[in-house]
Amino acid sequence: MKTFDAIIIGTGQSGPSLAARLATAGMSVAVVERHKFGGTCVNNGCIPTKAMVASAYAVHLARRGNDFGFVADGGIRVDMKQVKSRKDAISGRSRVGVENWMRGLKNCTTYTGHARFRSAHEVEVGDEVLKADKIFLNVGGRALTPEIPGLDRVPSLNNSSMMDVDFLPSHLVILGGSYIGLEFGQMFRRFGSRVTIIEMGPRLVQHEDEDTSAAILDIVKQESIDVRLNATCLGVSGGPGNITVRVECADGGPVVTGSHLLLAVGRKPNTDDLGLDAAGVARDKRGYVVVDDQLQTNVPGIWALGDCNGKGAFTHTSYNDFEIVAANLLDGASRRVSDRIMAYALFIDPPLGRAGLTEAEAVRKGHSVLVGKRAMERVSRAFEKSETNGFMKIVVDGKSKEILGAAFLGTGGDEAVHVILDAMYAKAPYTVLQRAMHIHPTVSEYIPTLLGELAPSAMAVRT
Ligand SMILES: Cc1cc2nc3c(=O)[nH]c(=O)nc-3n(C[C@H](O)[C@H](O)[C@H](O)COP(=O)(O)OP(=O)(O)OC[C@H]3O[C@@H](n4cnc5c(N)ncnc54)[C@H](O)[C@@H]3O)c2cc1C
Repeated sequence: MKTFDAIIIGTGQSGPSLAARLATAGMSVAVVERHKFGGTCVNNGCIPTKAMVASAYAVHLARRGNDFGFVADGGIRVDMKQVKSRKDAISGRSRVGVENWMRGLKNCTTYTGHARFRSAHEVEVGDEVLKADKIFLNVGGRALTPEIPGLDRVPSLNNSSMMDVDFLPSHLVILGGSYIGLEFGQMFRRFGSRVTIIEMGPRLVQHEDEDTSAAILDIVKQESIDVRLNATCLGVSGGPGNITVRVECADGGPVVTGSHLLLAVGRKPNTDDLGLDAAGVARDKRGYVVVDDQLQTNVPGIWALGDCNGKGAFTHTSYNDFEIVAANLLDGASRRVSDRIMAYALFIDPPLGRAGLTEAEAVRKGHSVLVGKRAMERVSRAFEKSETNGFMKIVVDGKSKEILGAAFLGTGGDEAVHVILDAMYAKAPYTVLQRAMHIHPTVSEYIPTLLGELAPSAMAVRT
């Protein structure tokens, strides 16, 4: 048995940084990773997908040569092997960086293997038993496989196996019309695949406002991506290269047949094989580790960070979890998860940058909602770039004057939304931003304009 001050299980987006902080503070730390260092974001999530989104964007722009005044003689040919090797190089650089960092860290011992609790303070890794008073879980999650008749008999892809695709599927059928499905769908359409997205709900990205879902549907349809909404998947059949998904749809035929099937219907936490029962750590009914506002589990000395605690499903929420735990343990702070404002992006082109509440959520919560909205067609930076899809929307509380949220679906929306996010953290009245002078020509320069055009939410009138 080897005893440490702290054991960190998983090297996702919080574990490595926490290991570095604890080890630098003089604690002896064990870090356990069973697969690839860096976890989902680095190996089969954010980094590789955004590398592929960049390739797809370049192809898309090249095809639009006429719009910009150039001719690509000979046409555009996508080399999927090169797309993949570029992606692998970008992702590999990060993975190696994390691994070298952990292996080179003073006071830190790395273990490769699957970690499982033996008791509240003991963890088995292969033949070794590690012991510590403090244990931090950063075990992340994996793609969820839905229960659909026939699915176990046909080949399917998920976000991890998509990373090995170095060919062009002739027709990629995607189950799930949310972030992962939309990002893969648009990129493979741009690479040259035919793409059908099947969504069981009545609209894409259902937790966003209806106008956001509608604008995203419009964007993907412009690129001839087939979308089947209200689809109840009844069954999957076929074999390699010829897969049929039987769907029930409000319109369109009940069957979609494609060459490849991608499952993008959600994620589940990696908590079923951790031996949590041996430690007495509670999980909720969806398998997430139950934590308090400071990310402590029900067992003293055990914390859960990142996707496995169900308090966020993003790299930045996982990293923020690290910051909270480290500040509370090492800096005498009392930071809480509930102090953070939710923010995320959907990295289709153009991207959706989101901060805080949607308009519908703000109305539901009883705020006196004011909205400023402008189509990207009226944003000069967007029409200079000939990228005018989408809109900017800001949601304000008319009484407190605080900004409640924003949805920027448009070129640069993923960056510009941070102006809103930071004003929300500052709890500044919207008038501070309204009077700020922003740089021309940028997307952000319209934020003061929008805030000068606030009007009562039409949703509030409707409800
Ligand atoms: C396709 C896709 C695209 C995404 N794009 C974005 C994006 O653009 N922006 C964004 O913010 N987020 C994105 N995400 C989400 C993001 O990847 C995760 O939220 C992020 O990686 C945080 O994960 P984590 O820190 O909880 O753990 P993870 O990154 O999932 O890492 C967990 C690690 O723990 C290891 N592990 C698990 N169990 C054990 C065990 N018992 N013993 C030892 N090791 C173990 C795993 O091998 C893994 O390395 C995307 C996700 C996917 C799937």
